[in-house]
Amino acid sequence: MGWLGLDDTDSLEQGCTTYTFHQLLEGLPSSVQVQTPRLVRLWPFAQQRTRGNAAVAVELITDDEPQLIEYLEHFWNMNISDLAGRVSKSEHDGRAQHPSDPGMVWFSSQRPDDSFYLDSVRREVSLHDVPPASYSWGGLGRIGATAAVSWREGKPTWEAIVWRSQERHGQNERRVCESTLKQIDALPSTFLSRDPRRGTSLIAPRGPCPVLFGVRARDAETAKFAGSALREAEETEESIAMRVFVTNQATDDHLGEPIQTTVLSTSVLGRGSTCIATEHGSWMAFGESGPVKLLAQWLEAGDVILGNGLFPETGVMHLEKLRLIAAVPLHERPMCLDCNVRMKSMGSGQGCRCPKCRVRTDDKWIELPRIPPYPSWVQPPLDARRHLAKPVEWNNDTN
Ligand SMILES: [Zn+2]
Repeated sequence: MGWLGLDDTDSLEQGCTTYTFHQLLEGLPSSVQVQTPRLVRLWPFAQQRTRGNAAVAVELITDDEPQLIEYLEHFWNMNISDLAGRVSKSEHDGRAQHPSDPGMVWFSSQRPDDSFYLDSVRREVSLHDVPPASYSWGGLGRIGATAAVSWREGKPTWEAIVWRSQERHGQNERRVCESTLKQIDALPSTFLSRDPRRGTSLIAPRGPCPVLFGVRARDAETAKFAGSALREAEETEESIAMRVFVTNQATDDHLGEPIQTTVLSTSVLGRGSTCIATEHGSWMAFGESGPVKLLAQWLEAGDVILGNGLFPETGVMHLEKLRLIAAVPLHERPMCLDCNVRMKSMGSGQGCRCPKCRVRTDDKWIELPRIPPYPSWVQPPLDARRHLAKPVEWNNDTN
């Protein structure tokens, strides 16, 4: 037995790592036993990232390793090596797209420990850092392929991926039954299926990729049930196959422990993006981060906050989660109890006076608590969240 990993076989115009992997698994010699395939999301800021920034892996059990290696070699030469260097212009987000540089690895007996996985999900790693495999093919894709192999599952989630029939690859429109999707979205174990705010589907990729949809769930059985129900729904277009992947999506594996700090100042930049200067560097809440941005804009110097996110540049955290711990109170002049009007200062050391009945008091301030817009953790709305981000609602779960 051993571990197979594959990454970076996609370009925007065609192909998708999960589909190439599915084809590879379909053609395996019959003596090979296939365990649960895994879909692993990696460091979102990787310089050479491809579209979904996901790699795949699987444990394979066989008594005939030479036969398996021969098959892998053949599959690589026939189906993958040819993809190297393909690049296409991104029409979606204007992001620079790198030529794909696929990689495949086979670890015969022992796989690397999960420190390589954690590095690959939390920071930029180079090909130089990749632990050597028993057999390896290709280039940069070996990074993600090895990370996917070295991931230990912990508390994973699952995704049932369904691929479109061959003749529909390359087309942008997808037909997925809307009413079945609503029912699936209502199941307690599924997540990120539908955006309730916009009423839009979150399961189908945009663009011409071979994936028809992917349904995410917190247990394998629900993923399988939901994927099958949606696939078989009358309104859903033809598909060729489905596989349930175990994944590191919604695990927060990319994040370290939250950091507690004190706010020094805040400044609102373009499109509502807000920079919080803190005792622990700058924390950025971006325009699309919804509640995170709104809470950031509400903060005042002296507030104590807890935050978590990634550090794509030194000293700057891109906030993914934010929580207020303690807010400095508001200082105001007292009210005149007779008139219910706020008193005014008469000048330094002169006391306060009611502007209406002119009654005087000492020169004093009263403290009023500030009520935050959100009492607990906040995170970006569903459609602006990273695949890796664990919903904050799961924080109190015991399982
Ligand atoms: Zn008064």
